[in-house]
Amino acid sequence: MRPDELAAVREQTPLVYFPIGSLEYHGFHLPFGFDAMHAHELCLQAAQQTGGVVLPPTFWGTEGHVGWPGSLLLSNGTIAGIVADVLSQLDQQGFKLIVACTGHYPRVQGLLIQGIADAYMARHPASKIILLDPFNLHPTDPRSEHAGIIETSAMLHMRPELVDMEQLDRPDALDGISEDCVDATVEYGQTRFATVLDAMVRTVNEELEAL
Ligand SMILES: [Zn+2]
Repeated sequence: MRPDELAAVREQTPLVYFPIGSLEYHGFHLPFGFDAMHAHELCLQAAQQTGGVVLPPTFWGTEGHVGWPGSLLLSNGTIAGIVADVLSQLDQQGFKLIVACTGHYPRVQGLLIQGIADAYMARHPASKIILLDPFNLHPTDPRSEHAGIIETSAMLHMRPELVDMEQLDRPDALDGISEDCVDATVEYGQTRFATVLDAMVRTVNEELEAL
């Protein structure tokens, strides 16, 4: 976006989405950037219904499969610094509602972001930052996993060309990931994505109305 475009959207709906993921080993069948792409796609589609701006996804994340092939996971302190800087500048630019969305399990990253948001809002009571994640948003089946049926199905739905299900035939295919990935389907990905998206839009609209 250019400055005038950004200002026009912010004027209309002072809402910004901040998708956060990781670069993390997700088995041999999924790309490293899955978590960020998942959060970003949800934010993009939510914004089509709620209005607002979506930041480019942040691929830097913390904790999880540190030391696994290809993982690039930064320290808590580094991620905390990035998140705190982004949140405070978005707030100062006039966004009245900031929606941080982390696609990265384990919960350490979510708790870290929530802690930063809470501390910022304590210092700036007029500011509103909420944290959503694509797993716990599901109203009847909230749960997290790693490269299992939820994440694999989501990618089969969002970007099938980035999934290689034949890699699941490798003898080490299930090392370090949720084993139900073998049951992933496009249909489950579509259904779950739509349900989570609905919940996200509902939550954000409620927060907007409460402003
Ligand atoms: Zn993941």
